[in-house]
Amino acid sequence: MPFEIPKLSYAPDALQPYISKQTIDFHYGKHHQAYVNNLNNLVPGTKFETATLEQIIKEADGGIFNNAAQVWNHTFYFESFSPSGLREPSGSLATAINKSFNSFSSFKEQFAKSSVTLFGSGWAWLVKKPDGSLEIVQELNAGNPMRKGLVPLLTCDVWEHAYYLDYQNKRPDYVQALWNILDWEIIDKRY
Ligand code: MN
Repeated sequence: MPFEIPKLSYAPDALQPYISKQTIDFHYGKHHQAYVNNLNNLVPGTKFETATLEQIIKEADGGIFNNAAQVWNHTFYFESFSPSGLREPSGSLATAINKSFNSFSSFKEQFAKSSVTLFGSGWAWLVKKPDGSLEIVQELNAGNPMRKGLVPLLTCDVWEHAYYLDYQNKRPDYVQALWNILDWEIIDKRY
């Protein structure tokens, strides 16, 4: 305590043209920071004063849950990107993707569909189930699959603030752009 926003491992303009510096400045610099500030204002005096972010996400409700989950989700999202990285899964995660979705391209199609069809604000997730198999799930608003005992591997933020400056109403174009900056060396390690 207090919670802090993690530093990005890349420069604010490093993900261009897929995510602009302006979007990073607002999405990371303003929105993500605001969730951290809100959480730090809400937690003092509650039973979560010494809790980890993960404990809060699993146990809290209302504003504390919303802000804690948004902090965790945004950190996880921003840490999935790099300007130069592995653009396809390898190793055991690649095997699991092929087993659960037939192929990487079929997985990409299904993950994009889940991201595009989520109605309103929320997050699409690739998760590992307790038996090691994979699933794509949608969570509304600040939702996080850890609450259901699932292990998050990858997420797509489909709140409009994630893409409106760069893509306006074209959420499908934003979702497609992310394949160019997702770093599967990082995602592989989460499996
Ligand atoms: Mn966001």
